[in-house]
Amino acid sequence: MIVTRYLEFETFIGEVRDITDDVQEAVKSSGLCAGTATIFVPGATGAVTTMEYEDGLVKDLGEALERLIPQRIDYAHNQRWHDGNGHSHIRAALIGPSLTVPFLNQSLSLGTWQQIIFLELDNRHRRRRIIVQVMGE
Ligand code: ZN
Repeated sequence: MIVTRYLEFETFIGEVRDITDDVQEAVKSSGLCAGTATIFVPGATGAVTTMEYEDGLVKDLGEALERLIPQRIDYAHNQRWHDGNGHSHIRAALIGPSLTVPFLNQSLSLGTWQQIIFLELDNRHRRRRIIVQVMGE
């Protein structure tokens, strides 16, 4: 069986949001016992991955992204569209728009220090609607 849920929230620029509890709730409310949950961002400037969610790493991740894919360099995208978010698109492409997590006994099979995070990579705040598709039995 397949059950689809949505997570909706407002973001701010540079937000790293822990959505673990929301995904766990989607799994629980699906009524399915075991399977996989796919978390997907429809949008080219958001991303989903996992990390240990703590203030130090949230800051480190933002700084690492700025070192690897700086905002203030030239992007062909910005010259063409003048929206200034070439870096957002490249960061989103490299981190990726989705994540699949297995669950057993209605519980996500995450590590103890592993949280599911959504990253707002755009250069403006957004309203996001994240898809959580739960497949299993
Ligand atoms: Zn753009």
